[in-house]
Amino acid sequence: QKQLILNERPNGLPDERTFQFEDVEVGNPEAGELLLKTLFVSVDPYMRGRMSDGPSYIEPFEVGKPLNGGVVSQVIESKSDQFDKGDIVTGHLAFQEYHVVSDNHVRKVQTFGLRPSVALGPLGMPGLTAYFGMMHIGEPKAGETVVVSGAAGAVGQIAGQLAKRAGAKVVGIVGSKEKARYITEILGFDDVVEYKEGNVAKQLAEACPDGIDVYYENVGGEISDAVWPLLNTFARVPVCGAISSYNLEEGEYDIGLRVQQYLIKSRAKLQGFIVGDFQADYKEAYEVLGKAIANGELKFEETIVDGFYAIPDAFLGLFSGENIGKQLVKVADS
Ligand code: NDP
Repeated sequence: QKQLILNERPNGLPDERTFQFEDVEVGNPEAGELLLKTLFVSVDPYMRGRMSDGPSYIEPFEVGKPLNGGVVSQVIESKSDQFDKGDIVTGHLAFQEYHVVSDNHVRKVQTFGLRPSVALGPLGMPGLTAYFGMMHIGEPKAGETVVVSGAAGAVGQIAGQLAKRAGAKVVGIVGSKEKARYITEILGFDDVVEYKEGNVAKQLAEACPDGIDVYYENVGGEISDAVWPLLNTFARVPVCGAISSYNLEEGEYDIGLRVQQYLIKSRAKLQGFIVGDFQADYKEAYEVLGKAIANGELKFEETIVDGFYAIPDAFLGLFSGENIGKQLVKVADS
């Protein structure tokens, strides 16, 4: 059985030298432990930050050690009274096909009758991120204009729909026609800006004639430069991510002091956050999201590729926009 190792730290976009597959032995579970078979692996943009060793809110991956992240697994053998053979669980684990883990490393998947992979998407870290960023920091109100960048992705698809539920007009920014159709026709966003068509500032100004009250920031860079001049007085900007900067090479990183003039003029509030800041309120979010997803009020999409060996390409695809909704790797059937 295989595990996926960080072979060397990338400078810029990761490539085949970054990753390596290695054999690993898996022992037998002892008291309080479980033998797990990996069903789904989540690849996420934040993993790029962990491949570098700069200062961060989360410790870097170690070279020569397995990558780790969100997985959904099935219990093959249980030496724990908390879990039975066959249970579907989720946790933050090393990327390998089988594991022996202590029973406190995973929790049973609460799926509200949906497929278990939702625990890595709308009912997992990306869903929680959308919920807290939008509802606790963005605080959209009826009649306001909300812009979401990365709008067809795992976080963006939920963030935009939450703003719609709050009665706001929602405009998404996406990188393809297919994604534009998805967010407007399936998710019900009011308008869309396709940034690869050019002149983002003009497209955005046309879509937001009343200015922007909430900007849910997923991408940073030039796309967001088009947002700042349109911020209304007392706008809120939950700063969730800046994926356009994650693969910049050393020395290229530019914080962009240019945003400040617009923040002063609009007295907008720009707040960075990490989903874990809201741990105390996860229960609230699971309930709201779980119910809304189960009754079809919140829709979502997944892009699933097959096989453990597909993890590196699935991860890299996040940076070229291959995914609609949550990008997952299916490793095995349950
Ligand atoms: P997505 O599912 O949105 O996948 C990434 C998407 O980003 C791609 O599909 C692509 O869509 C877009 N993208 C890639 N490169 C660029 C670029 N250079 N410029 C503009 N868009 C780009 O990922 P997630 O939903 O998992 O994450 C979205 C953001 O949220 C990321 O920035 C991530 O780091 C952040 N995040 C933050 C968390 C927190 O706690 N603060 C937690 C989870 C995520 P397109 O085709 O439209 O370009």
